[in-house]
Amino acid sequence: MRVHIPQLIERKRDGGVLTTEEIREIIRAFTVGEVPDYQMSALAMAVFFRGLDAVETATLTAAMRDSGRVFSWPSDSPPKVDKHSTGGVGDKVSLVLAPLLACDELWVPMVSGRGLGITGGTLDKLESIPGFDVHLTEDQCLSQIERLGLFMAGQTTDFCPADKKLYALRDVTGTVPSRELIIASIMSKKLAESLDRLVLDVKFGPGAFMKTREDALKLAEGLQSAGQENNVITQFLLTPMAEPLGRTVGNALEVEEAVETLQGRGAPDFVELTLDLCERVSNSPRERLAGWLRDGTAWKKFTALVAAQGGDVTALERITKIHRAPEVEPFLAPRDGVLRKLDAGTLGAASVRLGAGRRRASDVIDCAVGFSGLRKCGDTLAQGEPVFWIHARTGADLETARHHLTAAVEID
Ligand code: URA
Repeated sequence: MRVHIPQLIERKRDGGVLTTEEIREIIRAFTVGEVPDYQMSALAMAVFFRGLDAVETATLTAAMRDSGRVFSWPSDSPPKVDKHSTGGVGDKVSLVLAPLLACDELWVPMVSGRGLGITGGTLDKLESIPGFDVHLTEDQCLSQIERLGLFMAGQTTDFCPADKKLYALRDVTGTVPSRELIIASIMSKKLAESLDRLVLDVKFGPGAFMKTREDALKLAEGLQSAGQENNVITQFLLTPMAEPLGRTVGNALEVEEAVETLQGRGAPDFVELTLDLCERVSNSPRERLAGWLRDGTAWKKFTALVAAQGGDVTALERITKIHRAPEVEPFLAPRDGVLRKLDAGTLGAASVRLGAGRRRASDVIDCAVGFSGLRKCGDTLAQGEPVFWIHARTGADLETARHHLTAAVEID
């Protein structure tokens, strides 16, 4: 090994700076198993307390990107674009954004993750479509993107392996919340897609990872800087996550909502956010993108994507019949008035308890459960009108959810 790891740990512990060569060598050696987990954990803790400057963060990001295979695109291919969201409740934007951007003579090489905690994951939602295969090889990704302009797949074992190993250590050493380590983790995976343009949806509020706008801004600026330093045009939006996005939370329920949106019948908040994000990386203006949602162009692209990845296209318009929770009941407005609060954090936690999400990475999820028909803050409700519908596997689960959700709803 070309570096002495204990010295580097001590230097970072004491607030010093690591050089580009040192960071590259640490990541190379860690990836191949030459740096033991205890040293990497100590270094992660030193970074947690001392931070990394912008150059160190960009170098770490690039080193993690280069720890595995990086997509390489033909030189004459269209611009490659993608979006990353820091995760929200009811956030099914990728399902609509990816096919929409692929209508715009862009390539969308979307490598997605699974849900963890209260925020859902695109792969879980896609897997509620019977037959949909998220395990694509690099060759399959390339041939599909050449034909359709997009793929939506999971990480292969040789895609950012350093991130996979480091994240597992951070998870058990109290070092997940390090801003620089979050930036390197998120951006290494996006940079490995070899993008030209990236838009980031950095969420804040009770249903998001970042609770305040200030913290979200700091994270967004760090993510943007790591992207720009590595030659990707990177823009961000800071978006509130006080109430869930759109009308549904839960895997098949969100696919149903995405289908309706791709057919031009989307909830205004969901459609607006999707267009806001698309606009940052698209070739075409917003009006043309909105037109492709209304006239079926984006829907046709989505069905082509589903068919290409082995999914049953005929299942899309009956997805909530295929995944039907045995217990479906409304949560009723306790009084007349205006809906003031529908707390995304509480709904997200309740959806995980119903089985829609994971507490641990190994948990199996239930595609059918969640919430539908969510009313929006500002809506006027009459006493006894549904505020939303609860979809549960058992009557006991339904009652537990109802109990926890009482505090999530405020009407006055
Ligand atoms: N998402 C990631 O991929 N990595 C992090 O560290 C945090 C969120």
